[in-house]
Amino acid sequence: MGDFVFSMDAHVIEPRTLFAERLPEAMKDRGPKAERKDGYLNIICDNKIVHRMNMGDGYHGQERHGGVQPNLDPRLKDMAQDGIHAEVIYPTSGGVPYLVEDPELKIACSRIYNDWCIETFKPHPHRFVPTAVLPVAPGTIAQATAELERCIKLGYRSALVPCVLPEGLKFNGNDLDPLWALAQEAGIPISWHVGTGSSPVYERGPGGAVINYVEVGNSAQRAVFQMVCGGVLERFPNLQMVTVEAGASWLAFLCERMDEVYRAHQFYVKPKLSMMPSEFVKRQVSCTFQFDRACIMSRSVTGVKPLLWAADYPHLEGTFPHSQKVIQGIFQGIDISAEDRAAILGGNAAKLFKIDIARSLADAQITAARLSAGAEADPASLTAL
Ligand code: MN
Repeated sequence: MGDFVFSMDAHVIEPRTLFAERLPEAMKDRGPKAERKDGYLNIICDNKIVHRMNMGDGYHGQERHGGVQPNLDPRLKDMAQDGIHAEVIYPTSGGVPYLVEDPELKIACSRIYNDWCIETFKPHPHRFVPTAVLPVAPGTIAQATAELERCIKLGYRSALVPCVLPEGLKFNGNDLDPLWALAQEAGIPISWHVGTGSSPVYERGPGGAVINYVEVGNSAQRAVFQMVCGGVLERFPNLQMVTVEAGASWLAFLCERMDEVYRAHQFYVKPKLSMMPSEFVKRQVSCTFQFDRACIMSRSVTGVKPLLWAADYPHLEGTFPHSQKVIQGIFQGIDISAEDRAAILGGNAAKLFKIDIARSLADAQITAARLSAGAEADPASLTAL
């Protein structure tokens, strides 16, 4: 049997009219929308351009149609072709509300996205883990916590906070404690997906495309050392944090760096922790990666548990349609046990998000057979949660 592959980073492209259709009358014109102008894709929210992306020539012909919903069949076909059995789903324009200042609009858009996303992916509970968007901002922590509670009741097993917090909030503070307490109690891992909470464009000058991709990863690293050193992971020992699309080999560096200064500057270190910083990482931090071979090589520092492979479908920086080749490539020449390899490709993520591997594989087989026969979806043929 081949590998069980659980891609820990995948995106859904929401219907263009989602927010306009579902926002209350008074907010209808203010929700996220995309506009193509002068070679740029502008994302507009609350009458402001919150993100502007150059639609370079290289993009054309590389569109992945399976990212567009609500029909899941093109996506399921791509997964069958690419050998992906399960995915954690993150938003596209559903992440835009993190760039909106108005709390009411932020909360309303998050609720709309969360209602829509779980409806869309519910027929395949063993193959998709949709992620709830939590409207985190100064003054909205109670609402973000209430939204997490509502989403847990809807069936969510994954939730997202902005990778870059708005002014006035800090990951090493205690403002977000109610949220962490609920996530811990419910066993919901919290994700930090790069590029959320700030525009992912930091640099438009020479090297910008690469500089920006490296830069967004820094915010995920920052979240990890703030949560560890600020004592948050000490206060919430069962909280699991996942950085998404930031790579993973830096985690070994962080472990070494934090432990080194925790000892060397012990007279200044506050709060004192009950374990070394690297031990919190091993217990409570995971990172997704696509091509980052160095994280596999440095697993003697981090352990294998934090490493989660991901395809980042349908993005250009993702591995579709060559995921199998990429998987082969990342392990090439590395001495690793079959058990550790399986954990990185899917076992670790399955444990974190409570996916039953046998059921996921069975459903993938049923769906692939249906699609190759050209038949319509029949959710009753799949196993219930
Ligand atoms: Mn991603």
